Formats: sequence, C-alpha cells, structure tokens
Amino acid sequence: MQGHAEPLSALALRGLHTVRLRPCWGLGRSPKKAGKMGFGKIVKVNEGSLAEELGLVVGDRVLAVNEVTVRDMIEFSFMFADDEIDMLVEHEDGERELVSFDKDYDEELGVEFESAVDAVMPCKNHCVFCFVDMMAPNMRKSLYVKDDDFRLSFLYGNFITLTNMTDADYIRIEKYHLSPLYVSVQAITPKVRKTLLRTSKAEYIMGDLRRLEKAGASYHTQIVLCRGINDGEELERTVRHLYLRRPHVLSIAVVPVGVTKYRKDKFPLKQFDKESAEKVIKAMELWQDRFREEFGETFLYLGDEFYIMAGRDVPSEDYYDEYPQLENGIGLTRKFIRDFEKKLRRNRFQPSKFSYPKYYTIDVICGVSAEKFLKELAKTAMAELKNLTVNVIPVINEFFGEQVNVSGLLTGQDILKALKNRARESDGVIIPGAALRSGEEIFLDDYSLKELRAEFPNTKIEAAKTGGKFFMALQNFIKYKYIDKTDAMRLSNAGYI
Ligand code: SF4
Repeated sequence: MQGHAEPLSALALRGLHTVRLRPCWGLGRSPKKAGKMGFGKIVKVNEGSLAEELGLVVGDRVLAVNEVTVRDMIEFSFMFADDEIDMLVEHEDGERELVSFDKDYDEELGVEFESAVDAVMPCKNHCVFCFVDMMAPNMRKSLYVKDDDFRLSFLYGNFITLTNMTDADYIRIEKYHLSPLYVSVQAITPKVRKTLLRTSKAEYIMGDLRRLEKAGASYHTQIVLCRGINDGEELERTVRHLYLRRPHVLSIAVVPVGVTKYRKDKFPLKQFDKESAEKVIKAMELWQDRFREEFGETFLYLGDEFYIMAGRDVPSEDYYDEYPQLENGIGLTRKFIRDFEKKLRRNRFQPSKFSYPKYYTIDVICGVSAEKFLKELAKTAMAELKNLTVNVIPVINEFFGEQVNVSGLLTGQDILKALKNRARESDGVIIPGAALRSGEEIFLDDYSLKELRAEFPNTKIEAAKTGGKFFMALQNFIKYKYIDKTDAMRLSNAGYI
C-alpha cells in the first residue's frame, strides 16, 4: 500500500478512508488518459503538509478530485477548495487509490507538481518577430516551445494571442474566473495583425477580445512594435481602441521588436534607432498625459529599451503606477534603481558596519543597455562604501548577435570570455541573475555558474537580480550569497536590468 498505513490512521478523526480501485473508475473522462497527459505528478511533498499526513509520496499522481479529472493547477485548485475531498491517486506502480478526507476549505495539499498543465497549448501563429524562431540551434528543448496557453497566461502572466481559443476555453475562463489575462494585441486592424502573426485567425482580434470580456476576464495588453508595420497611425488606432475597452483592458505595453543573428525569416524587420525611438516616445507621451489627466494612471507604458535607445533617462517612479507589466520587463530599470536607493538609504544609518576593511574590487557584468545606469549606481556605491572599487563591464552578446543588448540574454560563454579578457582579476564579480534560468544556476547556453566559478578560483562570483540585492552584494560582498527561490516553472524575463 505504498507506505500509506500510518499516515492514514493519523487522519482517522478527520474522516479519512481509502478505497482500492479497479483500473477503470467511473469518471467522465478516463483518468488513465489524464495521467498520461501529464498533470498531477508530485515532485515534492512539503514537510508537515496535508499531503505528508495523507501518505502521498514523490512520484504519485493526482488524477481526479471529487470525480473531476484535473487537467491543470487551475482545475486542481478549484476542486480542492472544498471541505470534503475524494482524491484519486495513481501510485508509481500503476495502482490507483481513492483517498477521501475532510479538510478546512482553504487548506492546501502542500505538494509541488511536475508541471502546471497537462499539455501546453501550442501556438498556431508564425509571427514575423517570433523570438523562438530566432533561437540559436542545438539549445535545450524547452527554449523552442511555442506556447499560447490561456492557463499559463493566468498562472504566470504569459502573453497569448487568442488565435487558438475554442468555445470550451472561453467557458473555462468564465467557469474558473481566470482574470486577469495577458493578450498580445500587436495591431487592431485585421489586415495588419494578420501580416504580423501570419495566420488568418489573427484577423478576429476584436471579436476575440469581446468574447474574453463576455467571459468576465480583464486583461493586460502588449504591442510588439515593428517599424513601418504597426507603428505610426496603426499604433494610434490600436491605442485608441484599447483605451475605449477600459476597464476590461488594464494596461498597454509597447515594446520594440528585437532580432537575433539567427533570424532566417525573409520578412524585412527594421529595428528602432535613436530617432525612431524618440518619435514613439513623443507620440505616446500625448496619450499618457491624457490618461493621467482623465483617470490618474499612465495606463500605457513603453519598454525600457525605447528610453535607452533614445538616450533618455527612464521615467520616474510615478509613471509606472503599480508596475502592472513588470514581468514583461516594463519598468525594470526604474524599479532596480528604486530598490537600490532604498537599501542605500538604510545603509546610511549604519555606514561603518559595511565598509570594507581593506581595498576590495568588484566587477559587475551586464548587457550593453544597462551600462549607463549601472555605472551611476556603482559611483554612488563607491561614494558610500569605504575601500570599494566597482568596475562595470558591458558585455557584447556574441552568442545572439550584438543587437541583443539586454543582460538577461547574456550567455555563460560570453560572460566567461569577458572575464578572461580583463586586464586584471578582481576580488569579486557580480553577474546578472536574470541570465540564469529561474530557480537554477544555469545560463541560457547550459553553461553553469559552477563551471564559471571553477575558471576563477580566486574570485568570488555571485549573481544579483534586483536593485536591492545588487546593493546588498556591493555592501558586503564577502558574506553575500545569491539565492534564487523563483518558481522554476515560471516563464519570466523579469529580473536584473
Ligand atoms: S505567438 Fe509567440 S510563440 Fe507564437 S509565433 Fe508569435 S511570437 Fe512566436
């Protein structure tokens, strides 16, 4: 019985009982099929959790709760929010067991599942700017996955295009109150959107947004701006349309298209430069002023890259409101500076505690776009912290091509090369935490932080993801240690500069 005897008796007072099952149990949909589809496999049982009490172990799979086959985290959470549970579990040897118990309505099971959904809904578009299509060859499989899954949008803030949605999907959005979601609109004119997404389904965006709203969902939106295609008048039209859909539309993010050296697509894409970025900023400022005056929010936010390209400072804290699209990289620079300054102010109450007893040098690795503001922060830190010298080293992204200049897309190999090319070694090195896979210490090219550290045995190498952590690292690098507790399933580009 898979070691269940003792924990089960411990639950006797809570009305727990188990029933051994024949292979086919009367569910609407075959639980066996659900098992194969991939949701429900337990990879961690939290200590002291209900799951531990129930005797669940790593490798068990939750197939159904209260006679509903659970296909994803959403369905599981919804069904598990009850005080009487019948849970169908499949053990690793294929044996099934019905575990029944009483619990508090909001009590959690206390496990981690292998994946959040049964099978990721694949993207059916062929966007002219698809970053997956511009990925280097022979990288890990997960980097080539093109997902367009409303469940991941709800759970993790992934952007979806709505081109692959079925009636059943909208029904689930309504049933489980999946809101807010994140929608890649790109353009509101059907023909323009079709040109960008290269599927006729893209033309129904207005109808799709209406269906989403009818299902009760609010949504954040994104416009990937491509010069000469959806900028200028089309951008004006799209912004106006989305503004009119408030309050369903919660925010608009406008980000510039990015291209790597691996792009093979013949569709011509022109990147933004100083002048064209300035033009976009100026045009959008008119909308932003209007929105702030009318309802007190900026509502429309521009990607940090526009300001960096235009040679401007990023906007002030007020501009970003509550940072509604931080996971999309919007406002990352301002938030980084804000968090850094917060920690700096705190340091001023006890400066001597953190000054270095003797001369200490730290090299800070970053993408080219972060060089300017990081140098300013480094200067501030040096003025505060005695005996500390900070050198900011912008690294050219040879892996993806030098037009890719964000820190989060630096690879281990490029960082290694930059560190080897230094005139002299430093005492410490800070690398961008966003360049490491969430929850792990591995770069995009599968090179590990451990391997990098092994190349420089006399240098302490750590990562920092936020402005606060960056200051803490500079403040007391000898004791600083990088710890990333980000959910490894979360697909995010938010983080360091
Ligand atoms: S929707 Fe996303 S994944 Fe799909 S083709 Fe477009 S950019 Fe690529």
